[in-house]
This record gives sequence, C-alpha cells and structure tokens, in this order.
Amino acid sequence: MRTKEYLNPGIETASDKQVQHLQEARLAKQLDYLFDRSVFYQEKFQRAAIQRKHFRRLRDLQRFPFTTKDELRESQAACPPLGKHVAARIDDIIRVHSSTGTSGKPSFVGITRRDAAMWTRLTARSFYTQGLRKPDIVIHAAGLALFVGGLAVKDAIESVGAMFVPIGTGASEKSLMAIQLLKATAMHCTPSYASYFAEWIRREAKLEPRDLGLKKLFCGAEPGAGIPAVRAKLQQDWGARVTEGLGNADMAPIIFSECPDQSGMHFNGQEYVLVELIEPESGESLPIEAGVPGELVYTSLERECVPLLRFRTRDRVKVLGTSCTCGRTSFKLHCIGRTDDMLIVLGVNVFPSAIKDVVSSFHPQTTGEIQIILDAPGPKVAPPLKVVAEHAGRAADLAALKSEIERKIKATLTVPTSVELVPAGTLPRYEMKGQLVKKAFETT
Ligand SMILES: [Zn+2]
Repeated sequence: MRTKEYLNPGIETASDKQVQHLQEARLAKQLDYLFDRSVFYQEKFQRAAIQRKHFRRLRDLQRFPFTTKDELRESQAACPPLGKHVAARIDDIIRVHSSTGTSGKPSFVGITRRDAAMWTRLTARSFYTQGLRKPDIVIHAAGLALFVGGLAVKDAIESVGAMFVPIGTGASEKSLMAIQLLKATAMHCTPSYASYFAEWIRREAKLEPRDLGLKKLFCGAEPGAGIPAVRAKLQQDWGARVTEGLGNADMAPIIFSECPDQSGMHFNGQEYVLVELIEPESGESLPIEAGVPGELVYTSLERECVPLLRFRTRDRVKVLGTSCTCGRTSFKLHCIGRTDDMLIVLGVNVFPSAIKDVVSSFHPQTTGEIQIILDAPGPKVAPPLKVVAEHAGRAADLAALKSEIERKIKATLTVPTSVELVPAGTLPRYEMKGQLVKKAFETT
C-alpha cells in the first residue's frame, strides 16, 4: 500500500462536481476579464457574435471559438512586442518565455507576478505528483534560457523546498560532477538527454549511470518517457523511476504529470486550466473517458497577461483512466505526439514516437535509436515508410531482425515499413529534443 501524499489534498482528491463548480466560477471571472481587457478576444467574439451573457454553465463554453497558435503568431507580428492578445499592462509583465516553435520565429509569452505565482503552484503540484520531495537534490539538465521548462521549473522545485541545481544543456561534464559532489537524487531533463547522457557517462567516464544514485528522473518537453519500451530502458540505465510531465509555454510549464503508479499523466491544473478533448478534424467535443483519443484544448482560468480561450494545443493524447491507486481523482492521459509530427501512410495516422516504441521493444538487440526518412514533404508518405534503426551488434542474423521489426510494426501500427539496420552509434544523438524524422528532400 502506497502512502497517499498530496501537495494540495483538498483539490487533488475533490469530486468531479466540486471541480466543475470551481471551474465554472473561475471561468466566469476570466471571461469578464477577457471581455473587458483583451482586444484580441473582443474582436474575435464580435466576429463570432458571442456575448458575455452566452456563458452561464461550463457547457456553454462550446459555443465560443477556438484559439490557434497561428492566430497568436499573427497577433504578435501585427502588434509587437507581445501581441494583441496581451491583456495586462506592459509594466506589469515581469518575465517573458518563448515557445520552441518549428517555424523559426520565437513566439513570446509574458507573465505577470500573479501569473508567475500561479505557474509555480501548478508546476510544483505536478512535480510533487511525480514524487519530488523537500530532501531532493535536483539536477536541471534542460534549457534555462527562454524555455518555459527552465526558470519556471526552478521556482516550482524551490517552492517544494527541494534543491535546484541549474546546469542547463550541453554540459554533461558539469552534470556528472554535480551529481557526484552533491549526491543528487533526481534529474529534470528531456528523455532524449537522459538517454544521451547515459551513453556519455559510460563512454567518457567509464561509469555505470545506475551507480550514481539518482532515484527519480523527471522527463518532459517531448514524448518518450511515457513510451513503455523507452521508459523501461531509461529505468534500467539509471536505476531510477522515470515519470513524465506535459505542458506548454502558452498555458503553463507542466499541467499533467505521472504519479509513481506510472499509469498515465494526471491532470493537475483543476483551478487554473480547463481541459477539453476534441476530435482534431471536426473540432467536436469528446468525452473525457478511458480509451478516448483526441486533441487537448486549454482554457485559462486564472491568467492576467495572456489568458487563452479554447486554445488548440495540437497535442494528441489518449485518456487512460479516471481513477488511480494514488487516490488522486483527476483523469490521466498519455501523449501520443503532436499533430505537426504526424505522418499518414495508406490512410493510417502514425506518430514517429510509436515507431520508436516498437523498435525500442527489441532492446537489447536494438539501441532504440531510430530515424524516419522522408523523401518528400509529409504528412502523406508513399509506402513503405523508410525507417533507419540501430542494432546493438548482438543479433546473429541481421536480415531476420530487420524482417522481425518490420513485421511487428505492421502488426502493431498497420503501417508497412522498410527498415534499414545500422551499427550502434551511427544515428545522431540529441541533448535537447530528439529529431525522429529526417527530411531527406531538404538540402542543407
Ligand atoms: Zn496516480
């Protein structure tokens, strides 16, 4: 029997009804603020012929328009520095972060003092759910500059009373030294880095990562730690419990995170964020019930600088459950990938992380590193999907391993592939987010 520990017991074990009441009241206040202060939403609501009086109950939110990332980018370009969607006075903004977009230009997100305090409470709850406690010494081996998982995570970890060690990225030597000297118990990083760093420690320091004494690996910023075969390998490498979190720069750094039960990420933002699940093509609302896949949509409930209404995250998730051994009452989900990463082969949607999961399940015959090669721009790909995978030099018959992997991908994901096996260490490694797709048609 696991001890039931919560950072905020009242809200973390509240009934659905209690949470809905709270959210309804908070959303009403947030809407008052938007109608009053946000030029972006005033214009948007006018175009959609929506008035404040149209919101009375939570379900009325479905009448309101979605907000997309493209709209926010256009708003920032049209109305610098931070966009028309900023509802706070510029004097009241204490910090900006940026989201790591694929389009090149950073999209800035401002926070007021009140927003920062809210982020800290929400992010701290997410880390606490993952098992962070006061005695922990946490190596932060992730970005610190502009990245929302940097300074906001520092605030959250410190607020729990744990020790935050700001290493940053591209500093494996410093990370290793800090782990050894400070006797660190935890590390916060991307799953790609956890995997890269384990290899680096073996190669450069001739040590076994699991002998370093880390007990908890807090991962995020990309799918990976929640992929069963990838998680299994990381836990084996580090001898530590691996849990993942999910959030974004536009809403909050970490909104969902896994408890030690490791059965999906709990929703931790009850009084700060309202979550909807929608069918990505039609935009129709879906029930939050176990087994339902969809796109996550966020609405701010307590935001001053950039309150967003029905913000389409492009995160594709699947609801895993609505109860848990930890006693938390919030639902749990798994992130499958981002819409931007999705490929379509013979009409079947496939996320690169799902291919990585299947290839990783062949460990120790494979290293788990893969690269999908696209000869033409996606998302539609002519079959078979080209996959390069590293073998670990243990298979006696590489041809048999290749067809075994192709067979398993076909059986699991119904996607025909052509797998090319290359020796361990051939594919590029990443110290921040991994790149699972190589666009061979782009000349560099
Ligand atoms: Zn749980």
